[in-house]
Amino acid sequence: MVPRRHVSRHMMAATGLLMALVAPAFSEPAETKPPALELVVLGSGGPGALGRAASCHLVLVDGTPRIMVDAGPGCFVRLGETGLPLAPIGIQLLTHLHADHVGDLPGLVKARAVATHAPTRFEIFGPDGHGRQGEIAYFPSTSRFVELLFGTKGAFAYLPDFAGRLTFDVKDLAAALLPRQEPTIIYSKEGLAITAIAGHHRDAPSIIYRIDHSGKSITFSGDIDPDGLDNLRKIAMDTSLLVVNSAVLDPPKAPPILYTLHSPPTALGRVAGDSKALSLVLAHLSPATDQNRDEVEKSIRAHYAGPVTFAEDKLRLLP
Ligand SMILES: [Zn+2]
Repeated sequence: MVPRRHVSRHMMAATGLLMALVAPAFSEPAETKPPALELVVLGSGGPGALGRAASCHLVLVDGTPRIMVDAGPGCFVRLGETGLPLAPIGIQLLTHLHADHVGDLPGLVKARAVATHAPTRFEIFGPDGHGRQGEIAYFPSTSRFVELLFGTKGAFAYLPDFAGRLTFDVKDLAAALLPRQEPTIIYSKEGLAITAIAGHHRDAPSIIYRIDHSGKSITFSGDIDPDGLDNLRKIAMDTSLLVVNSAVLDPPKAPPILYTLHSPPTALGRVAGDSKALSLVLAHLSPATDQNRDEVEKSIRAHYAGPVTFAEDKLRLLP
């Protein structure tokens, strides 16, 4: 029997020779830099309780979770499942104030407060509101919405002092569609820029967002009907990753009312093509779009040749 030590010496010599033959001389391991931006889909579904969380995305900046886009029901659980820290998520972008896009906001605010147990600041951006007019429903502005939740007479008035002082810095963004509108910068710090422009989702004031950092960008359409697509095309120009909400099939396959709320895949594909988006993610999937993926992709392909991904909860993508 060969002594163990002897065998080890032989193996080391052989390994050394092998390394010398195959390894480049003294190559240092490349420093791994976190990606400038990363998308984590937390909620890929729509309003139906069908197994997907409702609309919500997280954006990592240089590897740190910083920005949440919408806060639909179920994303609280999905966020916990990712194991990502809540404390650095200081920016909340709201595309519109439908319940399937904001329903988890109180729970997420409380979760971040108890995770930090220190003074915590939230910067919240969302659409301004409007009064009820005939068929047009009342929508509070985002600042009014936050006041109704966390203000001194709000539903969760206890929360700002519950686990370290919470402060909210809320900005209402103009959501009315106007001719010749251009995207405006709503946040710019240390190379991270967020721009916004009015979207259109029937009577719900809505905002389209784009996040730019170190030459990469992610653009979020939010729920969007065909009236908002010109603005989406403008803000998404040359974007690295375009996230569109895809809830209906091409006409006439959905009830007419849904085409006043959402854009069909042929129109979404045209915007992706016109804006030269490098890749496309389809989110806010409904049973109609989820169960007819071939048909949806065929419609997209009429105008767009880049990579197309159907969103899943907890999908992570690099732009
Ligand atoms: Zn929705």
